[in-house]
Amino acid sequence: MTQELTGKTAAITGAASGIGLACAKRLLAAGARVVFIDRDGEALARACEPLGPDAIPLVVDLTAPTSVASMLPAILDKAGALDIFHANAGSYVGGPVSEGDPDAWDRMLNLNINAVFRSIHAVLPHMIARKTGDILVTSSVAGVVPVVWEPVYTASKHAIQAFVHTLRRQVIPYGLRVGAVLPGPVVTALIADWPQEKLDAERARGGLIEPEEVAEAVHFMLTRPRNVTIRDLVILPQSTDL
Ligand code: NAD
Repeated sequence: MTQELTGKTAAITGAASGIGLACAKRLLAAGARVVFIDRDGEALARACEPLGPDAIPLVVDLTAPTSVASMLPAILDKAGALDIFHANAGSYVGGPVSEGDPDAWDRMLNLNINAVFRSIHAVLPHMIARKTGDILVTSSVAGVVPVVWEPVYTASKHAIQAFVHTLRRQVIPYGLRVGAVLPGPVVTALIADWPQEKLDAERARGGLIEPEEVAEAVHFMLTRPRNVTIRDLVILPQSTDL
């Protein structure tokens, strides 16, 4: 028997675009109240406005500690409680290490790793006190496969996998579930800086999936009975070398 999401509150980071937006819409459709978190206030407003009162925008810069500190109080103020926290926001830098920009790596690592740790740390006490909750992270197939054209991004998602697996076991006694969704290439703004010929070639051979497919996977994870955890769900385009 699956668990429906009516009456649940979810908060999703990076919800103004791409995978986060698709997941937020999917959980809304499943009956949840959803706090859409992003640093881009205008995009958030555009996303939430047509979706009704259960789509609640919240501007947070996940790389600013004071902003993250204000996140849980704002969620509770707007939505009352938090059942599901989906740490989804992330960025991408690929390419040869020898030609890379370490400052750009630092910005990516700060968002993909540190901001995930910090934002989950911010919501855990609330979930532990309630003895229920779901933590999900958008990882990547690069979390379990060494993707040669993106070493630093791959390293960031390997770090996420390590965190998810260890945190999951720490919080089992409190009734919390922790899992990761690991997509292959998804058509979003994130891969906009791929070389055009690589994008065209991937699209032509069916090597890309839509964000809505990831959202379906996330909905599946969250609607398992509470004695079942989907710890890692890898979702790939059919035609991929990954
Ligand atoms: P996207 O660029 O479409 O969306 C990212 C969102 O995060 C944007 O709305 C952006 O404003 C927000 N954001 C960026 N920095 C922020 C900050 N400091 N504070 C708050 N919000 C911030 O990207 P996407 O493809 O939807 O990526 C979402 C997640 O999916 C990332 O973790 C990414 O690594 C992962 N992922 C993406 C792909 C892909 O191919 N697109 C594949 C596997 C995993």
